[in-house]
Amino acid sequence: MGKCHKKKSEKTLDLPPKEKNFVLIEPSECKGCRICVEACPKKCIKIGSDINKMGYKYAKFEDKGCIGCGLCFYVCPELGAITVYKGEEKETNEKTDERK
Ligand code: SF4
Ligand code: SF4
Repeated sequence: MGKCHKKKSEKTLDLPPKEKNFVLIEPSECKGCRICVEACPKKCIKIGSDINKMGYKYAKFEDKGCIGCGLCFYVCPELGAITVYKGEEKETNEKTDERK
């Protein structure tokens, strides 16, 4: 009998709208060191109560006005634990047509 083999590796990420700043934290790469928690100027990251496969309570992103500064990414010692998605800034200073 044939079986249906579906690829399970292709995860669909629930990313927010493009214009929002968003930080994705990979639980399996995080060692719960809290450096990103301390570094974030907006307190958008906290250590959750869930434990990853390495036995660490890992960091979680909370959307509390993330400014997309990337500090959390730069201070994290674990390559691949944090990805920062910088939202597209809306054009606020649109030029008006001033032809005479
Ligand atoms: S990008 Fe900046 S504001 Fe956003 S979670 Fe990281 S450190 Fe905090
Ligand atoms: S700095 Fe990196 S390893 Fe440390 S808690 Fe934050 S995401 Fe995890």
